[in-house]
Amino acid sequence: MTGRTHDLAAFTALNIVFVTAALPRMSIATAFVALGANMIGGLFPDIDNATSDIWDKFRGGTVAGRIIKPLIGGHRMLSHSLCGLALTGFVLKKILPAVGTVLIADMEIVWWSVMVGYASHLITDSLTTQGVPWLFPLPVRIGFPPIRQLRIRTGGFVEKIVVFPGLLILNGYLLYIRYPLYLGFVKALGGQ
Ligand SMILES: [Zn+2]
Repeated sequence: MTGRTHDLAAFTALNIVFVTAALPRMSIATAFVALGANMIGGLFPDIDNATSDIWDKFRGGTVAGRIIKPLIGGHRMLSHSLCGLALTGFVLKKILPAVGTVLIADMEIVWWSVMVGYASHLITDSLTTQGVPWLFPLPVRIGFPPIRQLRIRTGGFVEKIVVFPGLLILNGYLLYIRYPLYLGFVKALGGQ
């Protein structure tokens, strides 16, 4: 999947969690940091890909990507697995409390936002022909649908015409059916 689709998929996943879980009240700062963290989580698994969008987001990123990629083992390896997800979650649990001392945001919410973004990345990549090594280091790539030929190509027609607009429509639909929830959330943000 392209970075653009991953960004939107991460946001959509966060949106689904937002409408299904009873979300705690939060400050505007937490909401913004959580949105940013969600986007980073949504792109993070592609750190093993030197040409991915996450490397374009900072200066010298492509060079750093070229150096880091061989260390992680090439595209769609450790970072595209449950093992990578758990490892990232574990490391962030250790790091975020320290970040929380300089950044006034609820780090529990930020942590979940990263995880939701990360999981959305693995799920959306599973729709592509390459599949995802969910069980890495086991050398099995899993995708949906299980028949490879039925899956889609990254940056291809189906991603652009079906997946991306479909995610947009899903967000619009959620906003439409749960409008009072969003309204209450935004009002509570302003009240803090
Ligand atoms: Zn990926």
